[in-house]
Amino acid sequence: MRYALVDGLRREAERGLKGECQFDHHSMIPKCGNKRRPYWAHRAGYACDHWWDNETQWHRDWKSLFPTEWQEVVHKSESGEKHIADVKTDKGWVFEFQNSPISIEERQSRDSFYSKLIWVVNGTRRKKDFPEFAKVWGEGRPIVGKGWLRKVRISECPLLQEWANCDTPVFFDFGTGENILWLLPKCRDGKREHIAIFTRPNLVQPHLEGKDQEIDEFAKFLKDFSALVS
Ligand SMILES: [Zn+2]
Repeated sequence: MRYALVDGLRREAERGLKGECQFDHHSMIPKCGNKRRPYWAHRAGYACDHWWDNETQWHRDWKSLFPTEWQEVVHKSESGEKHIADVKTDKGWVFEFQNSPISIEERQSRDSFYSKLIWVVNGTRRKKDFPEFAKVWGEGRPIVGKGWLRKVRISECPLLQEWANCDTPVFFDFGTGENILWLLPKCRDGKREHIAIFTRPNLVQPHLEGKDQEIDEFAKFLKDFSALVS
């Protein structure tokens, strides 16, 4: 993890510090090698939150786009169940950056645990995903006047298909620079079949701009975009 508690304060790992996990209060060890940026680790063999994806550089890069106080936030449900959110905004939007494949059951349990969840999926993990995506995008039908929005055959792209029945916003990061792809919500006939080309700033800015404001800019943004395909 990037943060642990040191004397009650969230700190990044440094040599000589003793940390405490903000999730389960177990002791954590600072790992400060030369190869990667410092991080905190539990003692060997100890499993922390089972929803927590081991942090990769990909996670770090995404999380770093948000204020530090929004990163690695422990979220508690009304029933008392708790998990660590990669990012939780001041409006309660939770970002889960999904680096490894996830079962449908586990995804559904996260969908229902967090009331305002946004998935960002690493699309570079399996070699076939990007070519398959590029093919359905290429064969897709552009929505009139909007070159960045297309109706595609998601049934021919297993990755899109895996996420098609998810009720929350889903974005794919294929490692193509700033561009990301948004699988838009279900339209009137109950299918998810529209894809929009997006950028990271498109996704991140509404949260940052809406910080400390009363209006939930991202909710408004989602509503406006969803209207384009409904
Ligand atoms: Zn822990």
